[in-house]
Amino acid sequence: MNEAAAATGIRSEPTAADLDTLSLQLGRPVRDVVEIPARCRCGNPLVASTAPRLSNGIPFPTTFYLTHPTLTAAASRQEAAGVMAEMSQRLAEDEELAASYRGAHEHYLAERERIRVKSGTDLVEEIGHVTAGGMPDRVKCLHALLGHSLAAGAGLNPLGDETLELIADEWTLQSCTCQQAWDHEAEVPTKDLSRHVRRLES
Ligand SMILES: [Zn+2]
Repeated sequence: MNEAAAATGIRSEPTAADLDTLSLQLGRPVRDVVEIPARCRCGNPLVASTAPRLSNGIPFPTTFYLTHPTLTAAASRQEAAGVMAEMSQRLAEDEELAASYRGAHEHYLAERERIRVKSGTDLVEEIGHVTAGGMPDRVKCLHALLGHSLAAGAGLNPLGDETLELIADEWTLQSCTCQQAWDHEAEVPTKDLSRHVRRLES
């Protein structure tokens, strides 16, 4: 049995190959990626740590952006099944869970600040106290919570960790679904394929 597992809670620099993989995973060119904080056991990125303001000027609150198509699809299925309302209800009733989730929110803010400094981005006041996924007291996006859990490692975001358990039929830290999850032979989406450039060339 192969015991290799995904690497979470890491801070590796994105290589050119990583950026191409992210663009293929998302079907659009990625930009402003600062770190790869989690990787499949095969090495492919799972999450892109992204600067809090994109180079086009738009504030970007989802610092830990979930990119792997198997995981994004699995999270979408959990959302469609009504998991977020159930989690929000428990947050309102379970003081211990609520405190842990507030801790996740604080961790998210601190990590975003570290990534902001590392990327040389000025303070982004528009999202100063906003994190992602509905934190600190609601659940509005499982992709954001799962992205945070994978970026932080287990134990920091209780509802992101729960989301990872909920998708275990489709993906675990021991899985690699990369070969079938996106088209590895496709042309890498680049800025040259953006709508703006195509319009200028036509
Ligand atoms: Zn893989």
